[in-house]
Amino acid sequence: MTTSKATFSEHLQFKLHDVKLKAMGYGLKLMKIRHTHVLTGPEAIAELANKVAQSDLKKVLIVTTPGAVKRGYCDTLSSALSARGLASVVYSEVIPDPTFTTVKAGLAVLKEHNCDCAIALGGGSVMDAAKAMIVAATNEQPVESLMGMRKGKNVPLPFYAIPTTSGTGSEVTNAAVISEDITHIKRFMIDSRTVAKVAVLDPSLTASLPAGITAETGMDAMTHALEAYISKLSNPESDALAIEAIQGIFTHLPICFADGNNLQARQAMAEASLTAGMAFRKVMLGYVHAISHQFGAVYGTSHGLGNAILLPLVIEYSKDTVTEKLATLAIKTGLGNASNTQEQLAQSVVNKLKDLNQQLNIPTKLAGLKEADIPKIALSSYAEALKIHAAPKYMGKADIEALIKKLL
Ligand code: NAD
Repeated sequence: MTTSKATFSEHLQFKLHDVKLKAMGYGLKLMKIRHTHVLTGPEAIAELANKVAQSDLKKVLIVTTPGAVKRGYCDTLSSALSARGLASVVYSEVIPDPTFTTVKAGLAVLKEHNCDCAIALGGGSVMDAAKAMIVAATNEQPVESLMGMRKGKNVPLPFYAIPTTSGTGSEVTNAAVISEDITHIKRFMIDSRTVAKVAVLDPSLTASLPAGITAETGMDAMTHALEAYISKLSNPESDALAIEAIQGIFTHLPICFADGNNLQARQAMAEASLTAGMAFRKVMLGYVHAISHQFGAVYGTSHGLGNAILLPLVIEYSKDTVTEKLATLAIKTGLGNASNTQEQLAQSVVNKLKDLNQQLNIPTKLAGLKEADIPKIALSSYAEALKIHAAPKYMGKADIEALIKKLL
Protein backbone atom coordinates (compact mmCIF):
# COMPACT_ATOMS: atom_id res chain seq x y z
CA MET A 1 0.00 0.00 0.00
CA THR A 2 1.30 3.46 -0.86
CA THR A 3 0.64 5.84 2.02
CA SER A 4 0.13 9.44 1.00
CA LYS A 5 2.57 12.03 2.34
CA ALA A 6 -0.05 14.79 2.00
CA THR A 7 0.12 17.57 4.57
CA PHE A 8 -2.74 18.64 6.84
CA SER A 9 -3.54 21.65 4.69
CA GLU A 10 -3.50 19.49 1.54
CA HIS A 11 -5.98 17.12 3.20
CA LEU A 12 -8.25 20.11 3.77
CA GLN A 13 -7.98 21.00 0.09
CA PHE A 14 -8.88 17.43 -0.82
CA LYS A 15 -12.01 17.64 1.32
CA LEU A 16 -12.97 20.87 -0.40
CA HIS A 17 -12.37 19.30 -3.80
CA ASP A 18 -14.64 16.39 -2.83
CA VAL A 19 -17.46 18.87 -2.18
CA LYS A 20 -16.77 20.65 -5.48
CA LEU A 21 -16.69 17.31 -7.29
CA LYS A 22 -20.11 16.40 -6.02
CA ALA A 23 -21.56 19.56 -7.52
CA MET A 24 -19.59 19.13 -10.74
CA GLY A 25 -20.74 15.50 -10.90
CA TYR A 26 -24.40 16.56 -10.84
CA GLY A 27 -23.74 19.18 -13.52
CA LEU A 28 -21.97 16.66 -15.74
CA LYS A 29 -24.71 14.08 -15.27
CA LEU A 30 -27.29 16.57 -16.48
CA MET A 31 -25.13 17.81 -19.35
CA LYS A 32 -26.74 16.86 -22.65
CA ILE A 33 -24.19 15.52 -25.11
CA ARG A 34 -25.10 15.18 -28.75
CA HIS A 35 -24.96 11.75 -30.31
CA THR A 36 -22.16 11.58 -32.87
CA HIS A 37 -23.13 9.77 -36.03
CA VAL A 38 -20.23 7.42 -36.75
CA LEU A 39 -19.44 6.50 -40.35
CA THR A 40 -17.14 3.62 -41.23
CA GLY A 41 -16.13 1.74 -44.34
CA PRO A 42 -14.58 2.75 -47.66
CA GLU A 43 -17.45 5.15 -48.53
CA ALA A 44 -17.39 6.96 -45.18
CA ILE A 45 -15.85 10.20 -46.49
CA ALA A 46 -18.37 10.32 -49.37
CA GLU A 47 -21.18 9.74 -46.86
CA LEU A 48 -19.85 12.53 -44.68
CA ALA A 49 -19.91 14.87 -47.69
CA ASN A 50 -23.56 13.85 -48.27
CA LYS A 51 -24.41 14.66 -44.67
CA VAL A 52 -22.78 18.10 -44.87
CA ALA A 53 -24.56 18.86 -48.15
CA GLN A 54 -27.91 17.74 -46.67
CA SER A 55 -27.41 20.19 -43.79
CA ASP A 56 -27.65 23.06 -46.23
CA LEU A 57 -24.10 24.19 -45.58
CA LYS A 58 -22.17 25.89 -48.36
CA LYS A 59 -18.49 26.32 -47.54
CA VAL A 60 -16.32 24.04 -45.44
CA LEU A 61 -13.11 24.92 -43.64
CA ILE A 62 -10.93 21.81 -43.71
CA VAL A 63 -8.56 21.97 -40.74
CA THR A 64 -5.55 19.70 -41.13
CA THR A 65 -1.75 19.29 -41.24
CA PRO A 66 0.85 19.40 -44.02
CA GLY A 67 1.22 15.60 -43.57
CA ALA A 68 -2.44 14.91 -44.36
CA VAL A 69 -2.18 17.13 -47.44
CA LYS A 70 0.97 15.32 -48.59
CA ARG A 71 -0.61 11.91 -48.11
CA GLY A 72 -3.55 12.95 -50.33
CA TYR A 73 -6.18 12.65 -47.56
CA CYS A 74 -7.13 16.27 -47.99
CA ASP A 75 -7.67 15.96 -51.75
CA THR A 76 -9.95 12.96 -51.21
CA LEU A 77 -12.07 15.01 -48.85
CA SER A 78 -12.13 18.18 -51.00
CA SER A 79 -13.13 16.12 -54.07
CA ALA A 80 -15.93 14.38 -52.16
CA LEU A 81 -17.23 17.78 -51.01
CA SER A 82 -17.01 19.42 -54.41
CA ALA A 83 -18.81 16.44 -56.04
CA ARG A 84 -21.76 17.43 -53.84
CA GLY A 85 -21.59 21.11 -54.72
CA LEU A 86 -19.78 22.17 -51.56
CA ALA A 87 -16.90 24.61 -51.67
CA SER A 88 -13.96 24.12 -49.31
CA VAL A 89 -10.91 25.98 -48.08
CA VAL A 90 -7.95 24.30 -46.45
CA TYR A 91 -6.08 25.48 -43.35
CA SER A 92 -3.23 22.99 -43.05
CA GLU A 93 -0.84 24.57 -40.58
CA VAL A 94 -1.91 22.86 -37.37
CA ILE A 95 1.06 21.90 -35.21
CA PRO A 96 1.11 19.23 -32.48
CA ASP A 97 -0.30 20.70 -29.26
CA PRO A 98 -1.83 23.66 -31.11
CA THR A 99 -1.38 27.14 -29.71
CA PHE A 100 -3.65 30.18 -29.69
CA THR A 101 -1.68 31.48 -32.68
CA THR A 102 -2.61 28.31 -34.61
CA VAL A 103 -6.29 28.77 -33.73
CA LYS A 104 -6.26 32.45 -34.69
CA ALA A 105 -4.58 31.73 -38.04
CA GLY A 106 -7.21 29.11 -38.91
CA LEU A 107 -9.98 31.42 -37.71
CA ALA A 108 -8.73 34.18 -40.01
CA VAL A 109 -9.00 31.80 -43.00
CA LEU A 110 -12.47 30.72 -41.87
CA LYS A 111 -13.63 34.34 -41.67
CA GLU A 112 -11.95 35.49 -44.87
CA HIS A 113 -13.78 32.79 -46.84
CA ASN A 114 -17.06 32.95 -44.94
CA CYS A 115 -16.99 29.26 -44.08
CA ASP A 116 -20.14 28.02 -42.37
CA CYS A 117 -18.76 24.78 -40.90
CA ALA A 118 -15.48 22.95 -40.25
CA ILE A 119 -14.17 19.45 -40.82
CA ALA A 120 -11.12 18.40 -38.81
CA LEU A 121 -8.91 15.93 -40.66
CA GLY A 122 -6.12 14.88 -38.30
CA GLY A 123 -5.24 13.82 -34.78
CA GLY A 124 -6.28 15.35 -31.48
CA SER A 125 -4.25 18.49 -32.20
CA VAL A 126 -6.21 19.18 -35.38
CA MET A 127 -9.58 18.34 -33.86
CA ASP A 128 -8.95 20.57 -30.83
CA ALA A 129 -7.73 23.49 -32.93
CA ALA A 130 -10.83 23.17 -35.14
CA LYS A 131 -13.12 23.03 -32.10
CA ALA A 132 -11.66 26.28 -30.81
CA MET A 133 -12.08 27.84 -34.26
CA ILE A 134 -15.78 26.94 -34.56
CA VAL A 135 -16.51 28.45 -31.14
CA ALA A 136 -14.45 31.58 -31.82
CA ALA A 137 -16.14 32.00 -35.24
CA THR A 138 -19.52 32.80 -33.69
CA ASN A 139 -18.30 34.61 -30.59
CA GLU A 140 -16.63 37.96 -31.14
CA GLN A 141 -14.16 37.77 -28.28
CA PRO A 142 -10.51 36.81 -27.88
CA VAL A 143 -9.95 33.07 -28.28
CA GLU A 144 -8.15 33.01 -24.93
CA SER A 145 -11.30 34.19 -23.18
CA LEU A 146 -13.22 31.21 -24.55
CA MET A 147 -11.19 28.77 -22.47
CA GLY A 148 -13.05 27.29 -19.51
CA MET A 149 -16.58 25.97 -19.17
CA ARG A 150 -18.87 26.92 -22.11
CA LYS A 151 -17.62 30.50 -22.36
CA GLY A 152 -19.03 31.23 -25.83
CA LYS A 153 -22.57 32.59 -25.60
CA ASN A 154 -23.41 31.85 -29.24
CA VAL A 155 -23.81 28.41 -30.76
CA PRO A 156 -20.60 27.30 -32.53
CA LEU A 157 -20.49 26.47 -36.24
CA PRO A 158 -21.28 22.85 -37.17
CA PHE A 159 -18.31 20.55 -36.65
CA TYR A 160 -17.35 17.23 -38.24
CA ALA A 161 -14.29 15.09 -37.52
CA ILE A 162 -12.09 12.60 -39.34
CA PRO A 163 -9.54 11.40 -36.78
CA THR A 164 -6.22 10.17 -38.22
CA THR A 165 -4.81 8.99 -34.88
CA SER A 166 -6.49 6.55 -32.51
CA GLY A 167 -5.95 8.09 -29.11
CA THR A 168 -7.68 11.25 -28.00
CA GLY A 169 -11.32 10.51 -28.78
CA SER A 170 -11.63 14.27 -29.28
CA GLU A 171 -14.28 13.66 -31.95
CA VAL A 172 -16.74 12.76 -29.19
CA THR A 173 -15.41 14.72 -26.21
CA ASN A 174 -16.60 18.07 -24.97
CA ALA A 175 -13.00 19.29 -24.54
CA ALA A 176 -10.42 21.12 -26.62
CA VAL A 177 -6.86 21.58 -25.39
CA ILE A 178 -5.01 24.69 -26.58
CA SER A 179 -1.49 25.60 -25.46
CA GLU A 180 -0.30 29.08 -24.59
CA ASP A 181 2.20 30.30 -27.14
CA ILE A 182 5.12 31.17 -24.90
CA THR A 183 4.71 29.04 -21.78
CA HIS A 184 3.10 26.05 -23.59
CA ILE A 185 0.78 25.72 -20.61
CA LYS A 186 -2.32 23.82 -21.68
CA ARG A 187 -5.68 25.54 -21.42
CA PHE A 188 -8.99 23.71 -21.64
CA MET A 189 -12.20 24.61 -23.41
CA ILE A 190 -15.12 22.53 -22.16
CA ASP A 191 -18.18 22.85 -24.36
CA SER A 192 -20.54 19.99 -25.21
CA ARG A 193 -21.57 21.82 -28.40
CA THR A 194 -18.14 21.01 -29.88
CA VAL A 195 -18.80 17.26 -29.98
CA ALA A 196 -18.68 16.31 -33.67
CA LYS A 197 -22.02 15.87 -35.43
CA VAL A 198 -20.50 13.15 -37.58
CA ALA A 199 -17.19 11.28 -37.20
CA VAL A 200 -15.51 9.18 -39.86
CA LEU A 201 -13.52 6.21 -38.60
CA ASP A 202 -11.54 5.09 -41.62
CA PRO A 203 -8.65 2.75 -40.80
CA SER A 204 -6.90 3.46 -44.09
CA LEU A 205 -6.18 6.97 -42.72
CA THR A 206 -4.38 5.67 -39.62
CA ALA A 207 -2.33 3.06 -41.50
CA SER A 208 0.32 5.73 -42.17
CA LEU A 209 0.94 6.32 -38.46
CA PRO A 210 4.49 5.32 -37.52
CA ALA A 211 4.74 2.56 -34.88
CA GLY A 212 5.92 5.00 -32.19
CA ILE A 213 2.92 7.35 -32.62
CA THR A 214 0.61 4.33 -32.87
CA ALA A 215 1.89 3.16 -29.48
CA GLU A 216 1.76 6.55 -27.74
CA THR A 217 -1.67 7.52 -29.02
CA GLY A 218 -3.02 4.04 -28.27
CA MET A 219 -1.81 4.33 -24.68
CA ASP A 220 -3.48 7.76 -24.50
CA ALA A 221 -6.79 6.04 -25.25
CA MET A 222 -5.93 3.43 -22.60
CA THR A 223 -5.28 6.23 -20.10
CA HIS A 224 -8.65 7.85 -20.87
CA ALA A 225 -10.43 4.55 -20.31
CA LEU A 226 -8.55 3.65 -17.11
CA GLU A 227 -8.72 7.09 -15.52
CA ALA A 228 -12.45 7.20 -16.34
CA TYR A 229 -12.90 3.72 -14.87
CA ILE A 230 -11.35 4.65 -11.53
CA SER A 231 -12.68 8.22 -11.46
CA LYS A 232 -14.60 9.26 -8.36
CA LEU A 233 -17.42 10.27 -10.72
CA SER A 234 -17.52 6.97 -12.60
CA ASN A 235 -20.89 5.29 -13.05
CA PRO A 236 -22.12 2.01 -14.57
CA GLU A 237 -22.38 3.57 -18.04
CA SER A 238 -18.85 5.02 -18.04
CA ASP A 239 -17.52 1.76 -16.53
CA ALA A 240 -19.03 -0.31 -19.33
CA LEU A 241 -17.57 2.01 -21.98
CA ALA A 242 -14.17 2.01 -20.25
CA ILE A 243 -14.00 -1.78 -20.00
CA GLU A 244 -15.00 -2.14 -23.65
CA ALA A 245 -12.25 0.29 -24.68
CA ILE A 246 -9.59 -1.33 -22.46
CA GLN A 247 -10.39 -4.79 -23.80
CA GLY A 248 -10.18 -3.48 -27.37
CA ILE A 249 -6.83 -1.80 -26.73
CA PHE A 250 -5.31 -4.84 -24.97
CA THR A 251 -6.20 -6.93 -28.00
CA HIS A 252 -5.59 -4.60 -30.93
CA LEU A 253 -2.88 -2.09 -29.99
CA PRO A 254 -0.02 -4.63 -30.10
CA ILE A 255 -1.27 -5.79 -33.52
CA CYS A 256 -1.33 -2.22 -34.91
CA PHE A 257 2.13 -1.62 -33.45
CA ALA A 258 3.56 -4.74 -35.10
CA ASP A 259 1.69 -4.33 -38.39
CA GLY A 260 0.42 -0.85 -39.15
CA ASN A 261 -1.33 -2.10 -42.28
CA ASN A 262 -3.67 -4.44 -40.41
CA LEU A 263 -6.81 -2.46 -41.15
CA GLN A 264 -9.05 -4.63 -39.01
CA ALA A 265 -6.94 -3.88 -35.94
CA ARG A 266 -6.68 -0.20 -36.98
CA GLN A 267 -10.48 -0.02 -37.16
CA ALA A 268 -10.79 -1.65 -33.73
CA MET A 269 -8.34 0.90 -32.27
CA ALA A 270 -10.28 3.80 -33.82
CA GLU A 271 -13.42 2.46 -32.17
CA ALA A 272 -11.65 1.89 -28.84
CA SER A 273 -10.33 5.46 -28.88
CA LEU A 274 -13.81 6.85 -29.54
CA THR A 275 -15.31 4.61 -26.82
CA ALA A 276 -12.65 5.74 -24.33
CA GLY A 277 -13.53 9.36 -25.18
CA MET A 278 -17.17 8.62 -24.42
CA ALA A 279 -16.14 6.95 -21.16
CA PHE A 280 -14.29 9.97 -19.77
CA ARG A 281 -16.19 12.95 -21.11
CA LYS A 282 -18.66 13.08 -18.22
CA VAL A 283 -16.49 11.69 -15.39
CA MET A 284 -13.16 13.52 -15.77
CA LEU A 285 -9.63 12.13 -15.53
CA GLY A 286 -6.83 11.89 -12.96
CA TYR A 287 -3.17 12.36 -12.07
CA VAL A 288 -1.78 10.78 -15.23
CA HIS A 289 -3.23 13.68 -17.19
CA ALA A 290 -2.49 16.27 -14.50
CA ILE A 291 1.23 15.39 -14.55
CA SER A 292 1.56 14.57 -18.26
CA HIS A 293 0.19 18.00 -19.25
CA GLN A 294 3.08 19.60 -17.35
CA PHE A 295 5.63 17.34 -19.09
CA GLY A 296 4.15 18.61 -22.36
CA ALA A 297 4.49 22.24 -21.27
CA VAL A 298 8.02 21.98 -19.83
CA TYR A 299 9.69 19.42 -22.13
CA GLY A 300 7.40 19.23 -25.16
CA THR A 301 6.70 15.56 -24.33
CA SER A 302 3.91 14.29 -26.56
CA HIS A 303 0.62 13.84 -24.74
CA GLY A 304 0.43 10.11 -25.45
CA LEU A 305 4.00 9.40 -24.42
CA GLY A 306 3.68 11.29 -21.13
CA ASN A 307 0.48 9.42 -20.33
CA ALA A 308 1.92 6.04 -21.29
CA ILE A 309 4.99 6.44 -19.06
CA LEU A 310 2.95 7.62 -16.08
CA LEU A 311 -0.02 5.27 -16.33
CA PRO A 312 1.38 2.15 -14.56
CA LEU A 313 2.89 4.29 -11.79
CA VAL A 314 -0.30 6.22 -11.07
CA ILE A 315 -2.47 3.08 -11.18
CA GLU A 316 -0.02 1.39 -8.78
CA TYR A 317 -0.24 4.38 -6.41
CA SER A 318 -4.07 4.36 -6.56
CA LYS A 319 -4.45 0.57 -6.43
CA ASP A 320 -5.36 0.17 -2.75
CA THR A 321 -8.23 2.68 -3.09
CA VAL A 322 -9.77 0.94 -6.11
CA THR A 323 -8.74 -2.68 -5.54
CA GLU A 324 -12.19 -4.07 -6.12
CA LYS A 325 -12.73 -2.20 -9.36
CA LEU A 326 -9.33 -3.16 -10.71
CA ALA A 327 -10.01 -6.78 -9.72
CA THR A 328 -13.28 -6.71 -11.67
CA LEU A 329 -11.47 -5.24 -14.65
CA ALA A 330 -8.81 -7.97 -14.43
CA ILE A 331 -11.46 -10.68 -14.53
CA LYS A 332 -13.43 -9.03 -17.33
CA THR A 333 -10.32 -8.65 -19.48
CA GLY A 334 -9.05 -12.16 -18.79
CA LEU A 335 -6.05 -11.20 -16.66
CA GLY A 336 -7.09 -13.50 -13.83
CA ASN A 337 -9.99 -15.40 -12.36
CA ALA A 338 -11.95 -15.92 -9.17
CA SER A 339 -9.23 -18.14 -7.69
CA ASN A 340 -6.97 -15.06 -7.38
CA THR A 341 -7.22 -12.62 -4.47
CA GLN A 342 -8.53 -9.12 -5.13
CA GLU A 343 -5.04 -7.74 -4.50
CA GLN A 344 -3.47 -10.17 -6.98
CA LEU A 345 -6.06 -9.25 -9.58
CA ALA A 346 -5.53 -5.51 -9.06
CA GLN A 347 -1.76 -6.01 -9.32
CA SER A 348 -2.28 -7.96 -12.55
CA VAL A 349 -3.68 -4.80 -14.17
CA VAL A 350 -0.54 -2.86 -13.19
CA ASN A 351 1.66 -5.69 -14.45
CA LYS A 352 -0.24 -5.84 -17.73
CA LEU A 353 0.26 -2.10 -18.28
CA LYS A 354 3.99 -2.44 -17.62
CA ASP A 355 4.24 -5.40 -20.02
CA LEU A 356 2.25 -3.60 -22.68
CA ASN A 357 4.47 -0.53 -22.42
CA GLN A 358 7.53 -2.73 -22.77
CA GLN A 359 6.06 -4.48 -25.80
CA LEU A 360 5.35 -1.06 -27.36
CA ASN A 361 8.87 0.23 -26.66
CA ILE A 362 7.55 2.90 -24.30
CA PRO A 363 10.45 3.99 -22.08
CA THR A 364 10.29 3.75 -18.29
CA LYS A 365 12.17 7.06 -17.89
CA LEU A 366 11.29 10.52 -19.16
CA ALA A 367 13.94 11.86 -21.52
CA GLY A 368 15.16 15.30 -20.52
CA LEU A 369 13.59 15.25 -17.05
CA LYS A 370 15.63 17.42 -14.67
CA GLU A 371 15.52 16.88 -10.93
CA ALA A 372 15.54 20.63 -10.34
CA ASP A 373 12.28 21.00 -12.32
CA ILE A 374 10.36 18.42 -10.28
CA PRO A 375 9.00 20.68 -7.49
CA LYS A 376 7.62 23.15 -10.06
CA ILE A 377 6.07 20.35 -12.15
CA ALA A 378 4.57 18.77 -9.02
CA LEU A 379 3.06 22.08 -7.97
CA SER A 380 1.27 22.65 -11.27
CA SER A 381 0.18 19.00 -11.48
CA TYR A 382 -1.25 19.30 -7.98
CA ALA A 383 -3.16 22.45 -8.95
CA GLU A 384 -4.53 20.92 -12.18
CA ALA A 385 -5.71 17.77 -10.38
CA LEU A 386 -7.72 19.87 -7.94
CA LYS A 387 -9.22 21.92 -10.73
CA ILE A 388 -10.44 19.57 -13.43
CA HIS A 389 -9.88 15.96 -12.39
CA ALA A 390 -11.57 13.33 -10.22
CA ALA A 391 -8.84 10.89 -9.18
CA PRO A 392 -9.82 8.21 -6.67
CA LYS A 393 -6.77 8.68 -4.44
CA TYR A 394 -5.38 12.14 -3.83
CA MET A 395 -1.71 12.97 -4.10
CA GLY A 396 0.00 15.64 -2.07
CA LYS A 397 2.82 17.60 -3.69
CA ALA A 398 5.39 15.32 -2.03
CA ASP A 399 3.62 12.24 -3.43
CA ILE A 400 3.71 13.69 -6.94
CA GLU A 401 7.38 14.60 -6.55
CA ALA A 402 8.20 11.06 -5.38
CA LEU A 403 6.33 9.57 -8.33
CA ILE A 404 8.04 11.83 -10.88
CA LYS A 405 11.47 11.04 -9.40
CA LYS A 406 10.95 7.43 -10.49
CA LEU A 407 11.20 8.70 -14.07
CA LEU A 408 14.72 10.15 -13.67
P1 NAD B 1 -1.39 14.81 -32.77
O1 NAD B 1 -2.67 15.17 -33.37
O2 NAD B 1 -0.58 15.90 -32.14
O3 NAD B 1 -0.53 14.04 -33.85
C1 NAD B 1 0.75 13.53 -33.50
C2 NAD B 1 1.63 13.50 -34.74
O4 NAD B 1 1.15 12.53 -35.63
C3 NAD B 1 1.64 14.82 -35.50
O5 NAD B 1 2.94 15.08 -35.96
C4 NAD B 1 0.70 14.54 -36.67
O6 NAD B 1 0.98 15.35 -37.78
C5 NAD B 1 1.00 13.07 -36.94
N1 NAD B 1 -0.10 12.33 -37.56
C6 NAD B 1 -1.43 12.43 -37.29
N2 NAD B 1 -2.10 11.54 -38.03
C7 NAD B 1 -1.20 10.88 -38.78
C8 NAD B 1 -1.29 9.82 -39.75
N3 NAD B 1 -2.44 9.25 -40.05
N4 NAD B 1 -0.15 9.38 -40.32
C9 NAD B 1 1.07 9.90 -40.00
N5 NAD B 1 1.21 10.90 -39.09
C10 NAD B 1 0.10 11.37 -38.49
O7 NAD B 1 -1.55 13.65 -31.67
P2 NAD B 1 -2.79 13.17 -30.83
O8 NAD B 1 -2.22 12.33 -29.77
O9 NAD B 1 -3.86 12.63 -31.67
O10 NAD B 1 -3.36 14.52 -30.18
C11 NAD B 1 -2.69 15.11 -29.10
C12 NAD B 1 -3.38 16.39 -28.70
O11 NAD B 1 -4.74 16.13 -28.34
C13 NAD B 1 -2.72 17.03 -27.49
O12 NAD B 1 -2.65 18.42 -27.66
C14 NAD B 1 -3.66 16.67 -26.36
O13 NAD B 1 -3.61 17.59 -25.29
C15 NAD B 1 -5.00 16.69 -27.06
N6 NAD B 1 -6.04 15.87 -26.43
C16 NAD B 1 -7.33 16.30 -26.52
C17 NAD B 1 -8.35 15.56 -25.96
C18 NAD B 1 -9.76 16.05 -26.07
O14 NAD B 1 -10.65 15.45 -25.48
N7 NAD B 1 -10.01 17.12 -26.77
C19 NAD B 1 -8.08 14.35 -25.33
C20 NAD B 1 -6.75 13.93 -25.28
C21 NAD B 1 -5.74 14.68 -25.83
